[in-house]
Amino acid sequence: MRRLGLIGGMSWESTALYYRALNEGVRKRLGGLHSAELLLHSVDFADIEALQRSGDWQRAGELLADAAHGLQRAGAEGLLLCTNTMHKVAPTIEARCAIPLLHIADPTGAAIRAAGLIRVALLGTRFTMREDFYRARLAERFGLQVEVPDAATQDMIDRVIFDELCLGRIEEPSRALYREACTRLLDAGCEGIILGCTEIGLLLKPEHVPAPLFDTMSLHVDSALDWALS
Ligand code: GLU
Repeated sequence: MRRLGLIGGMSWESTALYYRALNEGVRKRLGGLHSAELLLHSVDFADIEALQRSGDWQRAGELLADAAHGLQRAGAEGLLLCTNTMHKVAPTIEARCAIPLLHIADPTGAAIRAAGLIRVALLGTRFTMREDFYRARLAERFGLQVEVPDAATQDMIDRVIFDELCLGRIEEPSRALYREACTRLLDAGCEGIILGCTEIGLLLKPEHVPAPLFDTMSLHVDSALDWALS
């Protein structure tokens, strides 16, 4: 089994899901008392969020590249960046490390294609929905047509991520708002929904939406396990 290095804490609510899912996955695949070979560098999310808000992606990238390099020095053989948003700085991390960064968008795109879908909606932070680093990768590498909600809905989705989900708060009214947003996107012709933020799976489950959900956290974990155990 190859040792995975996790760059987590963004937020720790979803890093805890990664830790559990990676270990459950190894137990399922190898049986007995087997568990995942992991190293974790969990950052202080308040620092990262402040850099996001001020637009200082260079500093944020350097911080995460330092963490990644530390994990490599400590013996990690592959890296998981446990957030969609911070993949905006994936090139900075990759430039600092000799070990592969297993990009979260790749298993997501592959799962959507395997399900036979092309036109999908992306829910995530305002950065993930509005900027190109994520959507372009899905379009260019997987030929997907990625739609996002209207601006007001994007603001609502982003607010719920930072003010509730990253703080461990699961609120019914927010779930209702997310469900309504999904309904509008499906009515507009989307065939599936990407949970493009690693915390959204805490709020939206398959039974809440009448279309396939692509949970980036669990797809990232599954592909990392394929890689670690191959
Ligand atoms: N975990 C989130 C994501 O997957 C949001 C937190 C962040 O801004 O990194 O994008």
